[in-house]
Amino acid sequence: MEKKFRGNVAAAKRLLLTRAGNRCSNPNCGVRLITDDGIPIAEICHIEAISEGGPRYNPEKIINKEDARKRIADLDNLIILCPSCHRLVDSDPIYYDADWLRTAREEHERKVLNQLESKSAPTSNKELNRTVTSFHQSLDIWRENIENGDEEFWQSLFKTNPKLIAQAIPNHIIQIGDKCYLGGKGAENKGGKVVDFLYATNFSKNFVVVEIKTPKTRLIGKEYRTCVFSPAEDLTGSIVQVLSYKTTLLKDFHSVQRDNSFQAFEPTCLVIAGNLEMEADDAGKRASFDLYRSNSNVLIITYDELFYKIESLLELLDEG
Ligand SMILES: [Zn+2]
Repeated sequence: MEKKFRGNVAAAKRLLLTRAGNRCSNPNCGVRLITDDGIPIAEICHIEAISEGGPRYNPEKIINKEDARKRIADLDNLIILCPSCHRLVDSDPIYYDADWLRTAREEHERKVLNQLESKSAPTSNKELNRTVTSFHQSLDIWRENIENGDEEFWQSLFKTNPKLIAQAIPNHIIQIGDKCYLGGKGAENKGGKVVDFLYATNFSKNFVVVEIKTPKTRLIGKEYRTCVFSPAEDLTGSIVQVLSYKTTLLKDFHSVQRDNSFQAFEPTCLVIAGNLEMEADDAGKRASFDLYRSNSNVLIITYDELFYKIESLLELLDEG
């Protein structure tokens, strides 16, 4: 029950930010709420002020102090805006009345959801062509950098083309911000954990937590017994990392788990790492890796596998 949401303001803010796709909810603005340097600029705005004299203060809703306390983190009464829009709507509460703000929020949230659908399932030829071109461009860059061991490089490649990651996940997905802060005091807290990418699937509204390593990340470790190889430390480290993000995410969103937006809340964890073809140079290594992977509850996809998958998809599209 949304209106009964009694979490704290920080949790409400995080939820609204997620729903707003990390963009200002004023449909005429839509500016990103994280600067290029990763500084969050989102401001939470009360649709109806909680103290007398504030913008859009509604005395009917606030009879006593307890009402005011509840209204502070009441999702129905909050909208996420950039600092300029926050100033704008509070300076002209007659024009930007409560109805205007609620409609704006709904419209913006719908826009965010629609965008993910059109992104992962192109409807027009024009859009399909754009998608194919951007895939080709990304694969060209990818091919040239197959020996690149810089995580930042790979993260930025996936950031500029989130559709690449969508190929690794069975459901269509939406990207929620570039770097997502988890844990601590909320999105604005620098002490929180930073997950590489956080996505939500279209259909189930589940989250996908992604840890991006590089094609140079080791997958297979030492020989344990004859023909039995343990996973590399790099790989197990990434798995522990992504699982700890998941735990933090579950903890953070626990209070809103029943909310409609997150009904089926069981995040998928994905690690993109390594080059299997290069590493698994004998049958024992390959078998050990496959065994480990199929028994892991974290989805592991290697760079060569993802590349091949996208390449095959493009071949199919080019033929068509
Ligand atoms: Zn704005």
